[in-house]
Amino acid sequence: MILHPWNEVVWQRLLHLRGKLPHSLLFHGRAGIGKLALAEQLAELVLCENPQADGQAACGVCPSCHWQRQGSHPDFIKLQPAMLDENELHDDPAERKSPLAGQKISVAQVRELTQFVQLSAHRGGLRVALIHPAEAMNVAAANALLKTLEEPPPNILLILVSHQSSRLLPTILSRCHQIRFTLPNADVAQSWLAQQGIREANASLAQAGGAPLLASTLADADYQERRRGFLNGLSRMNAADALRGAEQHAKQPLPDMVHWLQQWLHDLVSLHLTGRVYYQVDFEQELRGMAERANLLKMLDFQRRLQAARASVQHPLAVQMVLEDLLLEYAGLFD
Ligand SMILES: [Zn+2]
Repeated sequence: MILHPWNEVVWQRLLHLRGKLPHSLLFHGRAGIGKLALAEQLAELVLCENPQADGQAACGVCPSCHWQRQGSHPDFIKLQPAMLDENELHDDPAERKSPLAGQKISVAQVRELTQFVQLSAHRGGLRVALIHPAEAMNVAAANALLKTLEEPPPNILLILVSHQSSRLLPTILSRCHQIRFTLPNADVAQSWLAQQGIREANASLAQAGGAPLLASTLADADYQERRRGFLNGLSRMNAADALRGAEQHAKQPLPDMVHWLQQWLHDLVSLHLTGRVYYQVDFEQELRGMAERANLLKMLDFQRRLQAARASVQHPLAVQMVLEDLLLEYAGLFD
């Protein structure tokens, strides 16, 4: 298991809790900063049958550690959005490949978890259940989990990982011991990315809003090529370009494009207000040129529009049509 250097402090805090761990932990903070890795590390440690003498790490060789590393520990369950269930949600296969696409954890999955926690541990120790990300549970799934949170069976550790804990039910929040994860500072994040062999770490880190693991995902060459292709189009756009662009990009995942547009608009607006580019730093020159010709009030309106598009983006019935509307409105922002 890898401990990301910026999460060392949180790890030490968790080790302090050992022996008196609450039944339910909520790891929350931005996506892409290593919450899941730390949750898995904690699971491995509490399940380990022969932890290292200092209590800081699992042994890595006992049957429990072996199963955990094989992903087959009988006392461990992990709930994540199921890709197979997503076939119903997304008609377009490209939609499922996006690192930003929304996916759900179903009631059936939560029921599997509630059955799991009722059984006694195979190895006589704790049983650990991990939910990632917790906000992927719909209301029915979250309600199905509540009973387990309210009356947890003994010897259960439930770890919820959430990138947007404000979207969780208050009843869920109040039942969990919350552990907050923060963004590392840029130097730490960049040197870690460099160690991982990520080139242009600066640009990826900016696109990821400072979250290093997300940055390493976004550094994917294919993703970057698609992003640059789309943003190049935004650098000069009239109504005719908008229609052509919508046709040209109709096969791309809509969540990616809405996300790029949102960051692009954020950068244009912040150029107006503070003179700074935050996200699309490799397009700074183009953004500066566009910002001079952009109407601030129209941009603020368009940002609200994008927010709404993002919320409804789970069912992209007609990507080209949605994109046409968005790009036409975008083209109208400039003198
Ligand atoms: Zn072990």
